[in-house]
Amino acid sequence: MKNLRFEELNLSSEVLKAIEYKGFEETTPIQAQAIPCIMEGRDVIGQAQTGTGKTAAFGIPILEKLNHEEKVIQAMIICPTRELAIQVAEEIRELGKFKKGIGVLPIYGGQPIDRQIKALQKRPQIIVGTPGRVMDHMNRGTLKMDKVRMVVLDEADEMLDMGFIDDIVTILKAVPQERQTMLFSATMPGPILELTKKFQRNPKHVRVVHKELTVPKVEQVYFEVKEKTKPEVLSRLIDMYNPKLSLVFCNTKRKVDELVAELQGRGYSAEGLHGDLKQVQRDRVMSKFRSGAVDILVATDVAARGIDVDDIEAVFNYDLPQDEEYYVHRIGRTARACREGKSFTFVVGREIYKLRDIQRYAKARIILRKTPSSEDVEEVRTNIFLDKVKDVMDEEDLSQYVHIIEKLAAEDYTSLEIAAALLKMAIGNKGKEEKHDEEDFEDTGAEAGMVRLFINIGRNQKIRPGDIVGGIAGETGIPGKLIGSIDIYDKYTFVEVPREYAGDVIKIMKDNQIKGKRINIEPANSKN
Ligand code: ADP
Ligand code: MG
Repeated sequence: MKNLRFEELNLSSEVLKAIEYKGFEETTPIQAQAIPCIMEGRDVIGQAQTGTGKTAAFGIPILEKLNHEEKVIQAMIICPTRELAIQVAEEIRELGKFKKGIGVLPIYGGQPIDRQIKALQKRPQIIVGTPGRVMDHMNRGTLKMDKVRMVVLDEADEMLDMGFIDDIVTILKAVPQERQTMLFSATMPGPILELTKKFQRNPKHVRVVHKELTVPKVEQVYFEVKEKTKPEVLSRLIDMYNPKLSLVFCNTKRKVDELVAELQGRGYSAEGLHGDLKQVQRDRVMSKFRSGAVDILVATDVAARGIDVDDIEAVFNYDLPQDEEYYVHRIGRTARACREGKSFTFVVGREIYKLRDIQRYAKARIILRKTPSSEDVEEVRTNIFLDKVKDVMDEEDLSQYVHIIEKLAAEDYTSLEIAAALLKMAIGNKGKEEKHDEEDFEDTGAEAGMVRLFINIGRNQKIRPGDIVGGIAGETGIPGKLIGSIDIYDKYTFVEVPREYAGDVIKIMKDNQIKGKRINIEPANSKN
């Protein structure tokens, strides 16, 4: 199955305009398959991993099929977590921004129910809710579901893992039978299949299958970052490795433009390449890149197709690709002609699962690295520079320069001092004055990549692992799956969270409550 252009899908001009605005260039594979089926009115089972664009796969047809004059709830999307409900609602709102009179409302636990009841009175047509909160509104009679014609179960397998299956069954029984039911899930365990049998009619099963590809031999590493630290990490990596040419992949045209502006603002010579450029502009950018006048090219997958440049020493997956095959295509752009190539992949939060899939598919070893500090940048730059110095000493005739140094040494400088001064001038110490933007945690005795936190409640307060996961995930919005091992003692508990979230978790949970009890939380001491 090929990806399609959105123009081939018979969409309204308003939705096409929103897609253009979001900067999507073409459909992802799951969108290409699911959108036509859902538009036709069929029930669909969509099987695809995180980050493959499932929200638009169901969101676009829902927007197209809604009656925007009818101010009642027509579509209901059920998501496992508050974070996802908010994200999905936001994505659909953006896709519908040029359609008049469309209301999208997320409803989730943790937000005051009165506020949601008020928002419901504004009569949105699309509800995106977590199972518990939807049930709550159903029981209060604040959610009118008799006109619901489309239901989506998003991330069904995760909802199963979180123990929501009974709630989902209750909800599905409460919506009208005359409806279209879509179920999206990365995996299809038995209980999910049961759901599809019981609650879907002749569903079309769409999933993304891949052809086998050979993966080039490239050193592949990844970094766990936050969306907002990506430009800084990218800059540091470029400073550190100083690749001759770098190719940076973003998933949308808009991201390409934003990143190019950011990099230029930071003083790098970067240009963007995407589908909106005219052929002459593309040719101009490419010839500048080829000649090295521009050394960082930021591109979308579509635009990068067919780029054939030899000296690309580093490929950056600034955004994790939507499709496993893209990963292989992307990193295949480096290490041509047996030159050394590196690929750097940025992973945000739950994208780690997508990376695991890529890893499995590409049969690649992609190694986690700590994001470089400014000291690391300096160290690596120094090493690279010193290697070059050694090459020059081994291979070139230096007698003329030796003569100059001898003269200088005669003025009472040691050759060591002279070399040190030259090194300082050659490398500078740009990095030094920069600040760390991520908090450094001491060794807390946690697993690699995690920080172990101490919480001052435990068994005596009848705390169970679910309370800790629920409390932290619910308050901070980090997915429960990312929370690591939990050890509960009588008076306290240890819980591990991913390093890049640890600062936020402490900030948000400090003096917050778990199971109605005010808590204190701090990094564990590794000696504990
Ligand atoms: P999933 O639900 O499969 O995990 P999402 O729907 O959350 O994936 O999409 C992940 C990201 O990809 C979002 O930022 C979304 O805006 C973006 N996206 C979706 N479709 C496309 C597309 N066709 N081209 C580029 N980006 C896309
Ligand atoms: Mg999703």
